[in-house]
Amino acid sequence: MNTQVIIVGAGPVGLTLAIDLGRRGVRCILLEQKDAPQFLPKMERCNARTMEIYRRIGIAQKIRDAGFPADVPMDVFIVTSLIDPPLLHLPYPSVAQARKEIAASTDGSMPLEPYQLISQYTLEPLLKSVAETLPSVDVRYGCEFLDFEQDSGSVRARVKLRDGSTTQLQAHYLAGCDGGTSNVRRQLGIKLSGEANLLQLRQALYRCDDLFERIPIGKGRHYHVADAHNSFLIVQDSTRHFTLHAVVDSDDDMKSMFEQVVAMPVQYEMLSCAPWRQNLLLADRYGEGRVFLAGDAVHLVIPTGGLGMNSGVGDAIDLSWKLAATLQGWGGPGLLASYEVERRQVGERNVAASRFASRGRRAWRAAYRPNIRDKTPEGAETRANLARIADVEQRKSNEMIGAELGYRYAGSPIIWPEEGNAPEPNFMTYEPTSWPGARLPHVWLADGTALHDKIGDGYTLLRLAGAQADSAALSRAFSAYGAPFNIVDISDARPREVYGHDFLLLRPDLHVVWRGNRLPDATKLAALATGH
Ligand SMILES: Cc1cc2nc3c(=O)[nH]c(=O)nc-3n(C[C@H](O)[C@H](O)[C@H](O)COP(=O)(O)OP(=O)(O)OC[C@H]3O[C@@H](n4cnc5c(N)ncnc54)[C@H](O)[C@@H]3O)c2cc1C
Repeated sequence: MNTQVIIVGAGPVGLTLAIDLGRRGVRCILLEQKDAPQFLPKMERCNARTMEIYRRIGIAQKIRDAGFPADVPMDVFIVTSLIDPPLLHLPYPSVAQARKEIAASTDGSMPLEPYQLISQYTLEPLLKSVAETLPSVDVRYGCEFLDFEQDSGSVRARVKLRDGSTTQLQAHYLAGCDGGTSNVRRQLGIKLSGEANLLQLRQALYRCDDLFERIPIGKGRHYHVADAHNSFLIVQDSTRHFTLHAVVDSDDDMKSMFEQVVAMPVQYEMLSCAPWRQNLLLADRYGEGRVFLAGDAVHLVIPTGGLGMNSGVGDAIDLSWKLAATLQGWGGPGLLASYEVERRQVGERNVAASRFASRGRRAWRAAYRPNIRDKTPEGAETRANLARIADVEQRKSNEMIGAELGYRYAGSPIIWPEEGNAPEPNFMTYEPTSWPGARLPHVWLADGTALHDKIGDGYTLLRLAGAQADSAALSRAFSAYGAPFNIVDISDARPREVYGHDFLLLRPDLHVVWRGNRLPDATKLAALATGH
């Protein structure tokens, strides 16, 4: 074997997978066809859950240092231009303000980490530099994955090198993180189902050094333009770069569109322009045999709501500990099999959330009329009507905290099946729950530290508010598989109140396996949790 895992694609998902595998000591080779990360804009917001994940990996602060300044508001505007009074101004806290809100929150309803705006072209080189420091990770740019074959013992991938020659690599597993046109997925014969090519827009990237400081209507991150071109301006992390998306006929039109939206004389340079298409697609399966798929390879959403990369980071982190456990010998056959059960339902839900948000966007855009800028009673009526609709509908794109934090691995074979009516997650609101399969809600401890930070990389039995139980049998049951297991006693009252139970069994990814006031059959619980 050349390595334990071959990862195809060094987008944010493949890089995150490589880093988490590397952190767990798994040997992997990351193949990327590009010669180096590119300065091309795509995503720009890591959501709160992704930032919690990056905190666990130990890189959250690095990402914040490289991203949007902490004191700049994340407001969203609906405008006719950057100089006219906004039709709608939706304020959202800066990271610094969000931190204060999180610090004051005691009911488990807020994430441990706020979101962070960071442009994909900043994030990818940062993740690459982290991956390259990990001894078991071999990052290879300029290597195009061609094809693979697999049998019960290994996967062999053919790879084209920079000089045009080909080589073969052999590994235990292969992860296709190779984006929307995934070659790995196509070779597995797995289809994407849903709605393709819903709309084609152009996206241009501009450098304009003084624009952000000069915007008279207020600072924020998104300026949606109420026009006939579906256009919107996005502030990138440096606040000197901007992207404009619009439905126009040619790349050249993107210059006049920018000038029209900015509506004041500015020095600027258009750095790039490319078309992109909106899709709402989900793969029928998330892999086969020793080959797994993650990220855009299995779900393509409309960026409305920012659930593209963020869903992919969730895939990477679910797959990572299961691969590590299996390779280290303590993961049973059910562990990797649970990847598709757990993550495909999240993919399906996030495609639906993206549809919900984009329909909201379409609803207020449908209220656009050509008279929107007219200083007439009819023009005023158009503006007021559009703003009224947008005040409900645009929020769908910006406030999907339920989709971000509230997902739960329902029906997973490695989650304890609790009797009763599980809470139904909803896109726009997040109700903290410790129901098995859910992400553990964040709770502060009396000493100001976060309970999340007390949970290690193996399984953890949380014993809350002084609850006592003989945990030796559970400890023995996990060690019989060689699985890492820890007991964490939390004497504070607050977590017990939020979680509603004396004991919780947590997995390495902070999802709840089981909860209760009396420990169940230890052998059964350990077998289920480890996929045996
Ligand atoms: C305009 C826009 C705005 C967006 N905004 C957001 C946002 O705010 N938040 C969010 O979460 N998402 C957003 N997204 C979506 C986000 O960009 C994608 O979901 C994300 O890039 C997916 O990451 P990935 O690693 O799965 O795939 P990709 O980023 O597509 O990376 C795949 C990598 O695989 C490589 N590759 C492909 N084939 C091969 C091969 N044969 N051999 C070797 N390498 C190969 C590619 O070169 C590429 O580097 C946005 C997307 C767009 C277009």
